[in-house]
This record gives sequence, structure tokens and C-alpha cells, in this order.
Amino acid sequence: MAPATDDDLAGLAALRAEVEACTLCELHATRTRAVPGEGDPSSDLMFVGEAPGYHEDQQGRPFVGQAGKLLEGLLAAIGLTREQVFIANVLKSRPPNNRDPRPEEIAACRPYLWRQIQLIKPKVICTLGNHATKLLTGDPAGITRVHGRPRATAIAGHSLYLYPIFHPAAALYTPAMLTTLKEDFLRLPELLAHAAPQAEAAAPPVGAAPDAPPVAPAAAPDAPPAKPEQLGLF
Ligand code: URA
Repeated sequence: MAPATDDDLAGLAALRAEVEACTLCELHATRTRAVPGEGDPSSDLMFVGEAPGYHEDQQGRPFVGQAGKLLEGLLAAIGLTREQVFIANVLKSRPPNNRDPRPEEIAACRPYLWRQIQLIKPKVICTLGNHATKLLTGDPAGITRVHGRPRATAIAGHSLYLYPIFHPAAALYTPAMLTTLKEDFLRLPELLAHAAPQAEAAAPPVGAAPDAPPVAPAAAPDAPPAKPEQLGLF
């Protein structure tokens, strides 16, 4: 993973301050705290949930309730902690009574998420549930149809894989969904490995045999990643 530059870190700090003071939609009037998102700004892996719930609104941090505990357990199963990934939401403020985000709220908040993606430059974004998946894919297909299928795309000028999975909050109450969520989650390391830039993957390890097979040329920086099917993935 490429370490975040000073400019990226300054950009994220500025974004955090803007989100905390944001009044672009009516949710600012009912929230306790805005929830900008948190984690490793250099991570290759980003998660995008729907919106803060009660506990997130109280603490100003994403996924700190029951769904967050499940997300942490899923991360542990693939050898990661929440501090090693970046976690954000479509909406940065809690909708009253956890109602669904409204289109005008999503539209108002979207530029914040796009800027986060531009600054963090993840290789894989895991969208959690319908709202994040539909927003980031730009496709109305629901999560039940598209979960577990990575798609190569570009967001805010940055090439990456989107990987839609069920929302942990939904899976908490539906055992079949939880099973599927776990299965999909366990395939993340494989996707992350394939999402490594060609240049990095191609660099022979120090001390590699001089007659090591030739490697594929590095992709142009703006070229979209190869389709998962092309990689023989999933
Ligand atoms: N559900 C979400 O979508 N986001 C959170 O931060 C917590 C629960």
C-alpha cells in the first residue's frame, strides 16, 4: 500500500472538520455528532456502510454498535483489525430513528465520500448493504443479486474494485445472510492480493533468480483494474 502523503492527511483532516460543521441537509439539526469515518488513511481496503446509528451518533465514530462488533469479528477472521482499514458511511449524520437515507441527503453527502476515496485511494471498497452498493456502483441492482461479485471501476478518477456484501446489521438477524456474509468476507484477501498494482506485484523479490520468468508490463496509472473474470477470480 502507498503511504498517505502529508497533503492527503491534511485533506482528510480538513474534510473531517467540514463534516463536523456540515449543515448541508436537515440531518444536522437532529444529530448528536457527525461521523466522518476513521481508520488507516493508507489502507488498501475501505468499507462504506449506510449511515450512523444510535451509538455512532453518540460517539462520532462509525460501526461502534452491534454491527461494528460483527464487522470487527469478520475482519479478525481475515487477520485484520479495524485500525488497519478505513471505515466510512454514505451519510455522515444519523437519520432519526435509523430511517432510510433520503435521496437529497445522499446527494448532499456524496462529495464527502468521493473526496475520501480520492485521498485514501483504496484498491478495494467493500460496500455494505444496498445504499452504499447502489451509490457506488451507480446501478439499481440490489445487494441480494450483486453480493460477493467484485467489479472493476473508477471512482473520483481512481481505479479500484467494488466488492458488495451484505450489511452486518442485516446479517445480525438473518442467519442465512450471516453465512453468506462470512463466505463473501473470506474471499476479500484473494481480491486484495489480485488488486495489488501490477508494478508492485511484478517487482521480483530481492535475490530472485536472474532467469525468473518475464513479468507483465505495469498497467498505465489510470487504466481500470482487470476484470475479476480476467483474473480467474470468483
Ligand atoms: N450501520 C452503518 O451503516 N454504519 C454505521 O456506522 C453503523 C451501523
